Amino acid sequence: MTKEGNGKPVLVIPCSGIGKVHGLISREATYLVTDELAPEKTDTMCLALLVKGDGEAVAAVRNHACITIDGCAKACAEKNVQMTGGRVAKAIQVAACFKNHRGAQPGNASALTDDGWTITREIAALAASDAARLFAGEEVTR
Ligand code: SF4
Repeated sequence: MTKEGNGKPVLVIPCSGIGKVHGLISREATYLVTDELAPEKTDTMCLALLVKGDGEAVAAVRNHACITIDGCAKACAEKNVQMTGGRVAKAIQVAACFKNHRGAQPGNASALTDDGWTITREIAALAASDAARLFAGEEVTR
């Protein structure tokens, strides 16, 4: 269990997976959270800024609770937040979410199908729920 919370926006950070539908799902799920489901409680950032050690990005992940959404088990977003001293309160992996959707045809690297959007919305709802709890100072299961 991780307890963060302080009324500061929670950073939802997708991996930068290009060329895979899993990466597209991680980005679309992030946008659903930050633009539609919890815009007052969340924000996002470009993972590449962390990778190159941008000072503002590093400070942000150290001072805000972070939810990472990674396409696969390589967990690039989670690992880069951790390597820069950030606090990963919740780590979500798109590939793991497919376990509840065996046989799903999610689309491709540039467009999601209905199956893909169903999985994306599930991930976004999970992230938004945990973001709201973190924003309120409550605990979430990592
Ligand atoms: S977590 Fe997987 S899909 Fe995302 S950037 Fe890393 S290798 Fe690519």
